[in-house]
Amino acid sequence: MVVKNKHLPALPFTPKQISRTILDTSWQGKNIENMIGATQVPLGVAGPIKLPQMGEFVVPLATTEAALVASTNRGLKALRQSGSLQLKIHYAGMTRGPIFQAPDLDSAQAAGEQIKDQLFNQLQQLACQVSSHLKLIKIQTQVLGRYLFIRFRFDTDEAMGMNMVTYATRAIGRLIQERFNLKLISLSGNFCADKKFSFANQLFGRGYQVWLEANLPGAVVKQVLKTSAAKLDQAYKAKIIYGTAISGSLSFNAHLANVLAAFYLATGQDLAHVAENAHGFFLLEAQGDDVYTSLFLPNLNLGAVGGGTNLPTQKEAIELIMAGVKSGYKGRRSAVLAGLVGAAGLGAELSLLAALAEDQLACAHQVLSGRRES
Ligand code: NAP
Repeated sequence: MVVKNKHLPALPFTPKQISRTILDTSWQGKNIENMIGATQVPLGVAGPIKLPQMGEFVVPLATTEAALVASTNRGLKALRQSGSLQLKIHYAGMTRGPIFQAPDLDSAQAAGEQIKDQLFNQLQQLACQVSSHLKLIKIQTQVLGRYLFIRFRFDTDEAMGMNMVTYATRAIGRLIQERFNLKLISLSGNFCADKKFSFANQLFGRGYQVWLEANLPGAVVKQVLKTSAAKLDQAYKAKIIYGTAISGSLSFNAHLANVLAAFYLATGQDLAHVAENAHGFFLLEAQGDDVYTSLFLPNLNLGAVGGGTNLPTQKEAIELIMAGVKSGYKGRRSAVLAGLVGAAGLGAELSLLAALAEDQLACAHQVLSGRRES
């Protein structure tokens, strides 16, 4: 499996496990350089869970963390038995945000206004030439001194779209330089904002925005989550509100990054987007013996085609999910992925909070990782 080339660094020894990994030959090796094999990560499934209007789905999760799949499964069971899961999805589009340098503040500001007012249709046509699946939908600008930051927002259809939008932004950047006294300093100016937390992504969205809501009857809280509404409520306030505030964290959730990383790995998404996508807002309130809960994910970068979704096992994991799409669903497959990772995230939040409320976290990990008899 080790394919020698002039860029491949000398290896201290021939790795037997890594180089033995089998990859389907239909995959043409476009996703990596200097390849010496593949890393195997265990894959489990949680669910099923019904998403309104979309269908009923299993959730593939690739992880090395014992208890994550079991915990997500328990949370999904609680949501399933509540029969109350609601889902709203908005596609905000994928962004690329280059920086241009103008001679001064005045000309930076004027150029930004003209690009938005006069050039939109022409730039839209340019983007279409990159791919028939790409459409420029919005231009936002921000001036800082003589620097003009432009956030181009595109509809990328079924793809997560970062390559497509980057190619289109390069073509757009060239045209802008021809028309204005502006110099392209960097095709990505962190105004995108790709692979890092940003308030811009939280407020304006990037990729999908997902809202979920459920009401868990007291019996489900007791029998599935093995706790009570009062204990969940107290653990929620202490951990998610006070704990997040005292630590100065921006993530009002328990462990969303866990489910996002496992789902992204299983389905071939770009794992680095977890840094950007895991800042969702988990809500929970006791209502007598029942529990109201909700999750808002302002920014999910997911695709059903392109990038790592083309790899054999990742593609098959997406097929496993899509087998649950109900007939008559006319939406995008990437929206199903967004809704499903949201539901899994809400399930995992509920289950972890229940474990913490009952002081079961350490015990569950010890038992499930085989470190102690149950
Ligand atoms: P891609 O694999 O580069 O492109 C997807 C292609 O799929 C489109 O160009 C389109 O080509 C084709 N396609 C066929 N059916 C489609 C449909 N229904 N909807 C959309 N496209 C369809 O994938 P990408 O999503 O643009 O980029 C993802 C990759 O970008 C990931 O591997 C990620 O790691 C990487 N990435 C790149 C950058 C960067 O700066 N370049 C930054 C972050 C991440 P046709 O129009 O020719 O059919």
